[in-house]
Amino acid sequence: MAVSALRLGAEKLFEMPAVLRRLSRCQSTSQAFAEVLRLPKQQLRKLLYPLQEVERYLAPDRRQDLHLRIFNPSPEDIARAESVFKATEHNRIEYVSSAIRMDHAPDLLRPEVCFIGRSNVGKSSLIKALFSLAPEVEVRISKTPGHTKKMNFFKVGKYFTVVDMPGYGYRAPEDFADMVETYLKERSNLRRTFLLVDSVVGIQKTDNIAIEMCEEFALPYVIVLTKIDKSSKGHLLKQVLEIQKFVNTKTQGCFPQLFAVSAVTFSGIHLLRCFIANVTGNLDLTN
Ligand code: GDP
Repeated sequence: MAVSALRLGAEKLFEMPAVLRRLSRCQSTSQAFAEVLRLPKQQLRKLLYPLQEVERYLAPDRRQDLHLRIFNPSPEDIARAESVFKATEHNRIEYVSSAIRMDHAPDLLRPEVCFIGRSNVGKSSLIKALFSLAPEVEVRISKTPGHTKKMNFFKVGKYFTVVDMPGYGYRAPEDFADMVETYLKERSNLRRTFLLVDSVVGIQKTDNIAIEMCEEFALPYVIVLTKIDKSSKGHLLKQVLEIQKFVNTKTQGCFPQLFAVSAVTFSGIHLLRCFIANVTGNLDLTN
């Protein structure tokens, strides 16, 4: 009995793709992600690399303009990053504090990443999705018109801090620009700014204010397209091509590769976690 069970186990292991075999030996990989890796190939690609999935609909000679493989971690690398985002007794992921002024911001102990974007772009949904392995984290949202919006700081273990910046645009408080501008200009431990753009509507006038700030302060920033589940592949590809052209021709500090996410289907969330873990110095991937 024991021998046949062992044989069955060995056979099953042999049937697994190579990546799963390697991951089954990797103790830090969460069970949840091992399950993800069992998905059929096309579903897995859509979940992990959503823009590479859409890229297939482009003529081969146009694909190089999209720069989709500058950051191209393997599923094993993505699995390593998952453990950074997994709350445990030894890896406390929690809300730290909020601030309306820089002198109220917490100390600069760790590298930091911040998320900015228009109100309703899907910022709090994205941050909640990134923190789904720490379900007790409360992503605080103040959406009541007239209420002062704040910068919210979250600690990810000993690794880094995530800052949720107030949304701009519709009904943004007047002091928004001052608060965000000062933060972007002065925060010396800021490693990356993630600028969220709604994939349904593309870059809007108000987004240009944030883009200009990042460019003016020579910050390294990244454009993340949100809500990709809401568009057809054709519409998404059109938006991606337009935004990519903008990044290629009009920006200096923007990372050439676009990221795309859905907080509903979770597409692109694992890849973004991996990128964040890497830019905060916690993975050491060279690409
Ligand atoms: P915020 O104002 O930028 O924090 O935006 P929210 O996260 O509150 O999202 C605004 C609206 O968009 C809400 O109704 C969300 O449910 C919806 N939303 C956010 N992300 C997604 C997404 O990935 N897909 C879809 N379909 N809806 C989303």
